[in-house]
Amino acid sequence: MGIIEQENRYCAQNYKPLPVVLVRGRGVYVWDEDGKRYYDMMSAYSAVSHGHLHPQLVAALTSQLSRLSVVSRAFYTDNLAPFLEKACTLSGMDKALPMNTGAEAVETAIKAARKWAYSVKGVEKDKAEIITCEGNFHGRTISIVAFSSEQQYKAGFGPFPAGFKNVPFNDAAALEAAITDNTAAFLVEPIQGEGGIIVPDDGYLKACAEICRKHNVLLICDEIQTGLGRTGKLFAVDHDAVKPDGLILGKALGGGLLPVSLFLSRKDVMDVFTPGDHGSTFGGNPLACAVGLEALSLTVEQQLPEAAAKLGLYFMQALQNIQSPIIKTVRGKGLLIGVEVNADLASAREICEALMQKGILTKETHETVIRFAPPLVISKAELNSAIIIIKQVIEDFSG
Ligand SMILES: *Cc1c(COP(=O)(O)O)cnc(C)c1O
Repeated sequence: MGIIEQENRYCAQNYKPLPVVLVRGRGVYVWDEDGKRYYDMMSAYSAVSHGHLHPQLVAALTSQLSRLSVVSRAFYTDNLAPFLEKACTLSGMDKALPMNTGAEAVETAIKAARKWAYSVKGVEKDKAEIITCEGNFHGRTISIVAFSSEQQYKAGFGPFPAGFKNVPFNDAAALEAAITDNTAAFLVEPIQGEGGIIVPDDGYLKACAEICRKHNVLLICDEIQTGLGRTGKLFAVDHDAVKPDGLILGKALGGGLLPVSLFLSRKDVMDVFTPGDHGSTFGGNPLACAVGLEALSLTVEQQLPEAAAKLGLYFMQALQNIQSPIIKTVRGKGLLIGVEVNADLASAREICEALMQKGILTKETHETVIRFAPPLVISKAELNSAIIIIKQVIEDFSG
């Protein structure tokens, strides 16, 4: 049995991977079992923003691994505080709660917002509402898919918890109209990643922030995918100079090595949690903290947001310059770029398969959008080589 058949036999079929078996990674490259090299234009949905096996991240992990790994938060450890101080300082937040996966940090944000609504805002018991956006993606738990507008994410998984309400994305007036006395929070991605790399108008988030402040509603930004430099700023909210009341980080926070996530917020929000309210066995473990701290430091030291801004603009222009009827639009910010193909003329999946043949790995999102999100450490020379291949593949498809 080949490895692909073996995986198909023993692994749940909740993904449909491209037919390539990866065995090694370094920087912007990954290699398959035949030694063929590929550009990684997925970066594990932005979890590998620092590139594969960044030596400083590997050093931080192995050094911690030789000392102490997992003890749970029943005890203090010596690197949780430095990690959270760094995260709070960089984001302008007061406090943080460590979790592992993104979805767990989103769940944490929802719990914080609800409890804040009851204990601080004065919402009547069990009446708190959270407003989210159509086309959102915040993870896969039951309560998170409860407010997904994607039917497939929900079908067959009900019943769902109540207390969520969707409004159109990029429509601040719709947000304001949906707010009631029971509204605890507005949970939003500054750019919708899984929704198809949807970039709202400049000023949208700023308008949302003002509306939230006016109505005493928490603005909680999910920057699990857009955070840590991906869009050309340290946080995507910085494009609009917005300071949210809560911020959710994950993916790249784990340096491509471990699942590390955080919910960060103002003190009066975080202080709703008391011992025993919430927790996670692995959340804030020493390995995660060592890697998270190094991932944050590296992002700043190596000026990854600046690199993403500069190379992202260059990459997006190069993609826009490809003259092809199969390209409908190219959109994005920084190194989070989506190419929407004309569904009548080409299938995004087939283009991804052709790109794979030529040494570029990426995946379609929402059937018609091809994601280009390389590690932020990509050099201009590497990007240029990748652009030549992409151009050629798209031109081949254009007939
Ligand atoms: C990936 C993602 C999540 C979920 O993170 P997991 O680690 O897969 O649970 C949540 N929100 C956004 C915006 C994401 O891109």
